[in-house]
Amino acid sequence: QVVTRFAPSPTGYLHIGGARTALFSWAFAKNQGGKMLLRIEDTDRERSTDAAVVALIDGLKWLGLDWEGDPISQFARADRHAEVARQLVELGHAYYCYCSSAELDQMREEARAAGKPPRYNGYWRDRDQSEAPEGVAPVIRIKAPLSGDIAVNDHVQGQVVFKAENLDDFIIMRSDGTPTYMHAVVVDDHDMGVTHIIRGDDHLTNAARQIIIYNAMGWPVPEMAHIPLIHGPDGAKLSKRHGALGVEAYRQMGYLPEALRNYLARLGWSHGDDEFFSTDQMVEWFALDGLNKGAARFDFVKLENINGHYIREATPEYLYDVMLATAREVGRTADAEGLSANRDTALSALPELQPRAKTVLELIDLAQFIYASRPLAIDEKASALLTPESRIVLGDMAEMLHGLNEWSVPAIDAAMRTLAEAKGLKLGKLAQPLRAALTGRTVSPGIFEVMVLIGRDEAMARLQDQIS
Ligand code: GLU
Repeated sequence: QVVTRFAPSPTGYLHIGGARTALFSWAFAKNQGGKMLLRIEDTDRERSTDAAVVALIDGLKWLGLDWEGDPISQFARADRHAEVARQLVELGHAYYCYCSSAELDQMREEARAAGKPPRYNGYWRDRDQSEAPEGVAPVIRIKAPLSGDIAVNDHVQGQVVFKAENLDDFIIMRSDGTPTYMHAVVVDDHDMGVTHIIRGDDHLTNAARQIIIYNAMGWPVPEMAHIPLIHGPDGAKLSKRHGALGVEAYRQMGYLPEALRNYLARLGWSHGDDEFFSTDQMVEWFALDGLNKGAARFDFVKLENINGHYIREATPEYLYDVMLATAREVGRTADAEGLSANRDTALSALPELQPRAKTVLELIDLAQFIYASRPLAIDEKASALLTPESRIVLGDMAEMLHGLNEWSVPAIDAAMRTLAEAKGLKLGKLAQPLRAALTGRTVSPGIFEVMVLIGRDEAMARLQDQIS
C-alpha cells in the first residue's frame, strides 16, 4: 500500500509551498488507494509552537486535505531515534565523536586553506573509544562512504548523483542526546512505513545524506519526488508581496478552498491543458510523472480567475455561509450583521452577484446594498454621477415610481422606458444615477432587480435621500 506523509515543522502558518506539497502527497496517496500521514517535525523545541501546530492543522482542514490517524509528533519519538543511533554504532556504521568546537573550527580552517569545502575530517571515525577525553559528551556521526557515488533516483529530478567525497560524516545525534533532522526523518519515515516522499527540492541534498542512513540500516529507500519550489512572477524567490503567505491569508483575502486547491494543483503539475478540474478529477489523474521539473511561478491573476470560476459555480447557500464566516474572520462586523439579518435577500441576490466577483470579499462588497443603512455611503465614482441635473431626473423617477401599481422588474422596466422616452434620454442614462442613489456604487446587479430585492419602501426612501 502506498503511504505518503506531510512533514511540516511547526514554526509558523501553513505557507503556500507547504500546502502544495501536502496537496501532492495527498492526491498521490488517494490516487493509489493509499494513505497520507501527518508528522509534525517538532524536534526543534526552541522554534516549535503549539499555535503553529493548530495553524497547520487548521490550514490543512480548510484546504480539505485529510490524513490517516492522529498527527505524529517527531519529538515524542526521541527514544526511538536514540535507539537507532545506538544500533548504528553497534553495527559499526556510526561512531562517537568527541571533537571540541575549537577542533572543529580548526578542521574547517584547514579545509579552507587547502581550497576544499569545510568538512569533518573523520578524526574519531576509526579511533578507539579508550582515547575519549574525560567529561566530554560526544555526538554520534554516521560513517559515510569515503568514495563512490550516492544516487538519488528521483521521480521529478531524474537520477541525481552526489560524490561521496563531498558528503562528510554528518552528525545524527547531538551531544545533548537529541537527534538531528537528518536522522529523525529517516527513522520516522521508515517506522511509519512511508513508501513515497514528496517534498520541496531544497531537500535534495538531504536526500543523499538520508540514503546513507537507510543503507547503513539496511532499510529500503522510499521512492522520492523532489518538487521545484514556487517562485514569484519575476522568477525570484517567492516574496510576501507575490504570495508567500499562509493559507489563512488566502482564506481572508476571499479565496475558496476548492479554487486554491485547483490553482495549487496546476502550479507544478499538469494534466494536459486542463485549467479547471474538480478535486475528484485531480485525484483520478494525479501521477508523479505529471510533476514539472521547472520552477513554478505564482500568479495572482490566474488564481483570481480560477476563484471567479468557482464562485460562479458555487451554490448561493454555500457562498452565503462563506461570506458570513469571512466577514466575521476579518472583522467586518457590520457586514456580518447585515448578512445574518438578511439571509433570504442575500440568497436571492447571489446569482446576480456571482458573475461580478472574483473573491468572497468582492461578493461581500457587492452585497452591501442589501443591508446598507440610510443615508447610504456613496463612493467617489457614484458621487460623480449624482449631479444637480441628475438629481432632478431622480425626482421625476421617484414620482413615476410612486404611481406604480405593481413593484416588479417588468413593471419598473416598462415605466422607466416610458420616462426615458419622454425625456429623450437613453435608459442607461437614467439607470446610472439610479444605481448610484440606491447602492452607493457604480457596479451592482441589474438596478431593477436591486429595487425588487430591497423592496419598495427601502428603494423609495433611498431615492428620496438623494433628491432632497
Ligand atoms: N520538516 C521539513 C520542512 O518543513 C520537511 C522534511 C521532509 O519533508 O522530509 O521543510
